Amino acid sequence: MLKTHTCGALSLEHVGSTVTLAGWVNRRRDHGGLIFIDLRDRSGITQVTIDSDQTAAHEVAAQVRNEYVIQVVGKVAPRPEGLRNPNLSTGDIEVLAETVTILNTAKTPPFNIAGGADEVDEALRLKYRYLDIRRPRMTQNLVLRHQIVRFIREYFSARDFVEIETPILLKSTPEGARDFVVPSRLHPGEFYALPQSPQQLKQLLMVAGMERYFQIARCFRDEDLRADRQLEFTQLDLEMSFVDAADVRAVIEPLLVELSQVMLPHKRIQTLPFPVITYADAVEFYGIDRPDLRFGQRLFNVTELGAASEFGVFKSAATGGGAIKGVVFPGGNALSRREIDELTDFVKRYDARGLVWIGVAGEPDAAGHYPPESLRSQVTKFLTPAEIQTIVARSEARPGDLILMVADKLAVVNQALANLRLEIGRRAGLIDPNLLAYCWVIDFPLLEYNEDEKRWQAVHHPFTSARDEDWERLENDPGSVLAKAYDVVLNGWEIGGGSIRIHRSDLQDRLFACLGMTPAQTQAQFGHLLEAFQYGAPPHGGIALGIDRLVALFAEATSIRDVIAFPKTAAGTDLMLDSPCPVSDAQLAELSIAVRLAKK
Ligand code: ASP
Repeated sequence: MLKTHTCGALSLEHVGSTVTLAGWVNRRRDHGGLIFIDLRDRSGITQVTIDSDQTAAHEVAAQVRNEYVIQVVGKVAPRPEGLRNPNLSTGDIEVLAETVTILNTAKTPPFNIAGGADEVDEALRLKYRYLDIRRPRMTQNLVLRHQIVRFIREYFSARDFVEIETPILLKSTPEGARDFVVPSRLHPGEFYALPQSPQQLKQLLMVAGMERYFQIARCFRDEDLRADRQLEFTQLDLEMSFVDAADVRAVIEPLLVELSQVMLPHKRIQTLPFPVITYADAVEFYGIDRPDLRFGQRLFNVTELGAASEFGVFKSAATGGGAIKGVVFPGGNALSRREIDELTDFVKRYDARGLVWIGVAGEPDAAGHYPPESLRSQVTKFLTPAEIQTIVARSEARPGDLILMVADKLAVVNQALANLRLEIGRRAGLIDPNLLAYCWVIDFPLLEYNEDEKRWQAVHHPFTSARDEDWERLENDPGSVLAKAYDVVLNGWEIGGGSIRIHRSDLQDRLFACLGMTPAQTQAQFGHLLEAFQYGAPPHGGIALGIDRLVALFAEATSIRDVIAFPKTAAGTDLMLDSPCPVSDAQLAELSIAVRLAKK
C-alpha cells in the first residue's frame, strides 16, 4: 500500500510514530514558513504541516493545489493547545511532513469539493459524479447503502434464505409498467425484456422447492419519469413458501426494527409492533394509502350533512356522490387571512375547488356548544347551528384551532386533504424528525377499474390472491374483492409491498379472465406459470422493499439520486456518460434493426 494509515485514523495514541498517508488535497493554506494541507481520503481528513526547514518537502508542498493526489511521510504530533479541532476525528493531532510526493496533479474542479454539498447545481454534480462522490456527504451515503445491503444479506442468510440471481435478459413480465426491450442478434426480430421485477421467477423458485429466496435485484421500468423515480432501481426481493401474510410481515418487521436500531441509534421507532391499518381506514383517516403517522390530525368526515344542507358547496358535493371531509390546524386560528389564502391555493394544486374554513376563536358555552361569535368564518352564515355543532364536534377542534374542509369528488377530497395534512404537520411543527413511524397497510382492493380502457386491472399485480372469503365475489362484484396484499410504510413513504400469491392454476385462470384476457392470451404470456402450477406449487407469498427509497430515508437525503452512485436525471439521461445515444449503423444492421424517427 502507498499508505500506512487512512486520513481518518490517527489520534493522540499515534503521537511519535512515523506514518505514510496518501489522498487528495482538500485545502492548502500557505503561511510562508508553514504550509498546512488538509489531506482527505474516504475515511476523513488529517492536517499535514510542512515546515520550511524540510526544504524538499516544503518546495513540493508549495506547488500542490486542491485535489492533487499526494503522498506524505511524516511524524504524528499533538496539535498545540488551542489549535485542536473537536469536529474532526483526527483533530487532536497533525502530521509533521518529512517528504511530500505528488502522485498526480488535478485541474481546478468545476465545483468546490471541500464545500457544502447542496448549493451546487445538480446537473453539474451528475456530469462530474466522480468528483461529487468525493464529497463526504455522498461518500457517507454510499457507505450507508453498503452497510444496509450487507445487513440485509446477513439477516436473511441467518434465517435460512438462499440468495438466487435471476436473469436480466428476460421475457416481458407485465406488472403495469412499460418494458425495456433488448434486441436479439441471434434471433433477428426478437427481443428480450428487462425485468420489471423478478416476480414470476421467484414464484417459479417456490414451485422449484427453494422455499425461502431473496435477492438484491435490479428492476427496470420504462415509465414516464415522475419526480423522484429512476428507470432502474434496486429492490430487496423475497419469496417464501408455506406462509400467510402475517408470516411475511413477521420476517420483514424485525429486519426493519434491527436495521433502524443499528443504523439510526439516535432515532426512535414510534410504535412496536408496527400498527396494522386497513387500506379503507388509511384512506378514510389520512386520505392516502401511505399515512405519515408521526403526528395525528386525522381527517374527519361530515359527508352526511351535505344532502340536507343549504350551503351550496356542501350540497353539490354530497348530491354528486362526493364527500365533505376536513382536518384541524392546531393553533391555526392565529393564521392571517393571507396565510389561509395560501392554504386555499395549496389545495387547489390538488384539483380541489377551494377550502372551507372555520376558526375556533372563543370558548364553548356551558353545554359545550360554540356560539356564532366564538367562530371566525365566512361560511358559518350558510350553515345551521346544528351543522356547525356537528362539524366542530366531529373535528375535535379546540379553542384556537382552525378547521379546514374540502367538499368535492371523493378522490379529490382525499388527495387534497392528505397533502394539506402534511403541510399542516410541517407548518405547525408537528413532525418529530427523530421519529420512525412504521406501519403496515393491508386489505387493499384486488382490482381497480381502468376508466380509459374500460376494464378491470390488478392493483398490485395479477399474481396476488384474493382473501379466501372474497373469491366467490370475483366475477359478480370484482370491485369489492380485497387482496392478501400488504405495504410497509415509513414516515409517509411506501418502502415495500407484497402479497400472498395465487398458487392454483384454476384460480389464476379465473383472475386472468376477470382482467379480460382470453385463454389464448394467458397461454401465450403466462403459459409457463400456469403449467408450473400444475406440478405441485406450494402456497407462497413475498414482498419487495425499495432499497433506494429506504437508504434515502435513512440518510435523510432529499432525493434517491443522492444514494445512487450513478443515477439518471429526472429525464432519464446520464449526463456523465451522455446516454442514451445513437449506436452505429453497423450495430443496428447486426441486430436487423432500422430506426424510424417520427417527424417532429
Ligand atoms: N414484485 C412486486 C413489486 O415489484 C413485489 C412483490 O409482490 O413481491 O412490487
